[in-house]
Amino acid sequence: MQKLTDTIRTYVESHYPVLYLITHEESEADQLINELSEGRNIIEWNMARGLVNFKTTQPLLDWCDLAAALDNLLTRDLSETEYFIIIRDAHLGLKDQPVAIARLKALINRILSDVDAIVTIFLVSSHVYVPNELKKLITLFDIPLPNEQDIRDFIKKYANSENRKLTINNRDLTKLALTFQGLTRYEIGRLLDRAYQRGGNIGIEDLDLVHSEKAQIIKKSGIMEMLTVREKLEDIGGLHNLKPWLQQKATIMNDWSAARAFGVEMPKGVMIVGMPGCGKSLTAKATAALFNLPLLKLDMGALMGKYVGESEGNMRRAIQVAEAVSPCVLWVDEVEKAFVGIGSGGSGSEVATRLFGYFLTWMQEKTSQVFVIATANDISALPPELLRKGRFDEIFYVDFPSRSERIDIFNVHLKCRNKLSSRIDIGQLADKTEGYSGADIESVVTEAIEQAFVDNRAELDTGRLLAVIQATHPLKEVMKTKVDEYQKRFAEMKIKKASKS
Ligand code: ADP
Repeated sequence: MQKLTDTIRTYVESHYPVLYLITHEESEADQLINELSEGRNIIEWNMARGLVNFKTTQPLLDWCDLAAALDNLLTRDLSETEYFIIIRDAHLGLKDQPVAIARLKALINRILSDVDAIVTIFLVSSHVYVPNELKKLITLFDIPLPNEQDIRDFIKKYANSENRKLTINNRDLTKLALTFQGLTRYEIGRLLDRAYQRGGNIGIEDLDLVHSEKAQIIKKSGIMEMLTVREKLEDIGGLHNLKPWLQQKATIMNDWSAARAFGVEMPKGVMIVGMPGCGKSLTAKATAALFNLPLLKLDMGALMGKYVGESEGNMRRAIQVAEAVSPCVLWVDEVEKAFVGIGSGGSGSEVATRLFGYFLTWMQEKTSQVFVIATANDISALPPELLRKGRFDEIFYVDFPSRSERIDIFNVHLKCRNKLSSRIDIGQLADKTEGYSGADIESVVTEAIEQAFVDNRAELDTGRLLAVIQATHPLKEVMKTKVDEYQKRFAEMKIKKASKS
């Protein structure tokens, strides 16, 4: 936080006219502005009370909307002393308010042209809303939520303040602090109150309170879903390079504080690209179960939304929510959809490029325990920067299963339906299913079982399964041209194979 304060101070001292502070904790923004003010006058506009003196909270005018408040500020002589002007909940004051936007622009231009007017305007909001007219004049800053160390200090201070009991060892305190990450100080304070009321203590048993609070956050966000998963690594047939890799990451994620103390880097995530129906989604689900973490699914198609302009805000919110819920697995499905049109110069191109930049920076700088699994079918739409190492820990290519993988997959699907028997020659089935995806194989099994049931509950055997195989068209055949094109591209890009060759 000190680093951010120092950075913002350099902007104030260099007379940047408008600084936009994005925060869910107004009190943090207030504290920061207070620290920077050094005796300046501070005028605040807020929706509830209009124009007030920030320090004394005394009203300066009768209530007025932002447009009227800015009109008043435009008539004031701002050159006598240095001023800070705070516009709280800026998105509320500016959205669809052309007069307020025009007056804000006029005020900024005055500040820029009048050498005597030493004024900094702070827009404070939990949302980013930057009108096009002001884009070039505004600088954005994200005020981070408290980090692990801040939270440890916060918990200790909370316990000390009222001589409350704090019977927690250091390791559990770290675990609790890591789980609290992503919540605001206010939310943490309320949860600590509840923990005390419940048990007269703060301890590791209070983790469940934090989890239920986080589930609330996801529900409120409305752009992601939290999936309940039962899939296990054993439910995936084949992919013998990818599975041990995930197992290694699981060892780290499951005991993160020890791993970190040992010097291990926080895993960032994995990108899994390749053929549809070959186990990418299945792997995302099994990974969350393996890591013992909640799985958040972010659907890129849905995030891009009907209105291009909304997607940027949606992306920021999704990332904030994932961080709030961390530790978690964030599954970004159809990641290629976000990047369609980058560099094309079309109207969506600028948004897509910004969105992409934001996502990349987040991936690069991320310190929270959010393990990202990005899945994509169509790699041709993915910008090379995304595929560069360093963003993800690894990129895997999932191809159609080999013969031995098909044996594995038949085994998985027959076994989970209690249909493994000596009447089924899986080797023969594998021979006849070259070019079938895992999903194709699964539907062969389910179709054959259904037919056997209808046929007087006959026992499932090789003959029936082979008949179904004969009657089906695997995806590789149906989408031949597209599949050939994908395979060529994957080979060119030399992406690591998820299967052992
Ligand atoms: P996608 O690669 O398109 O995300 P999915 O993982 O959704 O494909 O696969 C669809 C279904 O096909 C899975 O739920 C699973 O039942 C089956 N399947 C696909 N690949 C495999 C596999 N390697 N092992 C076992 N089942 C598989």
